[in-house]
Amino acid sequence: MTAQTDLNRLLHPDEALATILQFAKPGAIEQVALANAAWRVLAEDLSAAENHPPFPASTMDGYAVAAEDSSPWREVIGVQKAGDVLPVEVTDGYAVKIMTGAPLPPGANAVVPVENTEVADDHVVILQEHVTPGENIRPLGSDIAIGDLLVRAGSRLGPAEIGLAAGMGHADLPVYRKPRVSVLTTGDELVEPGQPLGPGQIRDSNRFSLIAALEAEGAEVVWSGKAPDEREPLAALMRQRIAESDVLITSGGVSMGDLDLVKALLGEMTTVHFQRVKMKPGKPLNFATAGDTLIFGLPGNPVSTLATFEVFLRPALSVLAGRGPSPRPRVPVTLAAPTGPSDRIEFVRGFVFVGEDGRLYGKPNGRQISSRLASFAGGINAFLIIPADNTPREAGEQVEAMMLGAPLASQPA
Ligand code: AMP
Ligand code: MG
Repeated sequence: MTAQTDLNRLLHPDEALATILQFAKPGAIEQVALANAAWRVLAEDLSAAENHPPFPASTMDGYAVAAEDSSPWREVIGVQKAGDVLPVEVTDGYAVKIMTGAPLPPGANAVVPVENTEVADDHVVILQEHVTPGENIRPLGSDIAIGDLLVRAGSRLGPAEIGLAAGMGHADLPVYRKPRVSVLTTGDELVEPGQPLGPGQIRDSNRFSLIAALEAEGAEVVWSGKAPDEREPLAALMRQRIAESDVLITSGGVSMGDLDLVKALLGEMTTVHFQRVKMKPGKPLNFATAGDTLIFGLPGNPVSTLATFEVFLRPALSVLAGRGPSPRPRVPVTLAAPTGPSDRIEFVRGFVFVGEDGRLYGKPNGRQISSRLASFAGGINAFLIIPADNTPREAGEQVEAMMLGAPLASQPA
């Protein structure tokens, strides 16, 4: 374990994240069928093994001709559909009717669109004045040439990437294994949704918000459950979940109370790297490792839980998933409302929107106390980052925003 004096230090959030990322490594590579590969992370560069189109192809329905032939009349000697190749050669005086996407017959070097022609018996009359070689043709390999880098390793496979892989004939793809994550909420006061609420009890909301956050990051929740504030059963569960997970997330039990057992148990069964971060909310965040397993002891207040997930767990999971830390963009914004003073770096849940002057503004989403989960809801798209200088800020002052989504088109109600 790191020296106790170090563990009492309040780390800057950037330093805390850098510490975490030292221990985050991409998972193993597995081969998955193309139909199951959407939103997975590609583990090797995907390069083109074929040309696309694999032949010069028509981009129009029309007539394949020799462009240099100046006579308007051509005898039609066949119909070239997509999917086969006619055994004919187009020479002066002749044309082949052709469909979009069909291969250009030998001898032809241009396609005249059907709307620029007129049919007379077995002839076609070309109505356009000039026919340019190459007109309405996609040359061989013009979209993709053999050897082109199509998708970089570390990319998430969206519809276009899946389409490129399918278009190149890949039936399966190498992807990183999803990070296997366990979620353990602690607290004797916690009751399941659907159960009656007894005196002094509150409902377990963190487990469900964490599961949702994990799904959004492409992690696999291998187990989730609840533990009492009792040493032996909590220790046994933590040990088992550490053994069976790439990441263990606990919620609660890391503050200064007598029953904050997670912190104490992490000290006994893992290597603890830090226990305090100079941020608000989220100061008592614990980070530890045991073998290859990363353990995040998140504070129990619902806003602290989700804020520390966003700032620390999301980048770590992104690295485990093979995508690198994928940092959120940070931009300067003008405050549209005042913010209070803070002695820690405050991550104010809010909205960034485009003002009438075309510039970016930031507005807090109501009261910011760390128990008020509604401050995180309603489609917030940013943390407004307030420096730890104990100074209140007026509307009109500039702060930095960490963007969690796209700016809103106008000021929210
Ligand atoms: P703790 O970190 O265990 O001291 O908890 C801090 C606060 O968060 C207390 O008010 C707890 O009741 C609350 N809390 C802890 N765990 C949860 C949870 N899973 N869901 C909702 N609130 C929680
Ligand atoms: Mg607790």
